[in-house]
Amino acid sequence: MPELPEVETTVLGLRRYVAGQQIVNTTFHRDNIRYPLHSAWIEQINGQSIVRIYRRAKLIVMQLNSGYLLWHLGMTGSLRVSQKEEPKRRHDHIECQLHNGRILRFHDPRRFGYLKYFADEAAMQDSIAHYGVEPLSDDFHADYLYHISRNKKQPIKNLIMNQAIVVGVGNIYACEALFLAAIRPQKACGKISKIRYQRLVAGIQSTLKQSIAQGGTTISDFENAEAEPGYFQQSLAVYGRSGKPCRQCRTTIKSIRLSGRNSFYCPCCQR
Ligand SMILES: [Zn+2]
Repeated sequence: MPELPEVETTVLGLRRYVAGQQIVNTTFHRDNIRYPLHSAWIEQINGQSIVRIYRRAKLIVMQLNSGYLLWHLGMTGSLRVSQKEEPKRRHDHIECQLHNGRILRFHDPRRFGYLKYFADEAAMQDSIAHYGVEPLSDDFHADYLYHISRNKKQPIKNLIMNQAIVVGVGNIYACEALFLAAIRPQKACGKISKIRYQRLVAGIQSTLKQSIAQGGTTISDFENAEAEPGYFQQSLAVYGRSGKPCRQCRTTIKSIRLSGRNSFYCPCCQR
């Protein structure tokens, strides 16, 4: 599933082709993906230029002259810019022809992704108001996690994966960051000291940044905007390594289920 780094990589890849571009013609090849695609949107979108493209949580936000396009990649979605000569592929559900002759294409075999169009900013902001802080922003720091976790017994891994608290820390990144911070995933979040939260924030940020630098990808069927697979999976410390020796101390990596998610840790390095 595309996680924050894949979405960030997609935005960085798309920006140079779509920023400032006018959308000349939009085609919906279905009337719904996860949510309905309203044909009335088409005349509102056509003729508008993409003035800004950025990421919020795992959404790709395209600000138009008037209104916003919000794209979500779901489980198997990808957004790419292709040459107009390139034929449409199966599962290309949305195509936006750009003024520069290229085509922005939304591809999603399993259709858990979506596009939403908002005519005004207030409605768009309302739709994303439930998201917590951005993990790579200045609002995400040890004091924030420390105060929010006092008197809570839930496992630390569940806290950092709660999108209302901090967005975009998916299962792989949570496992890897907890290893870097030497904290067990099941540790009660209310019992973690501020100094350990400092290490955890640094671990989350470095894990995400490393993955963005390597081009994103954590899944086999994800492609970034220029259809290059990413390389993050080659450097995982604990995720998916149950039964294998810890790269740091050679102790066997363990896995447990937390909220239905496989959680990997080294019982020696993490406490
Ligand atoms: Zn270890």
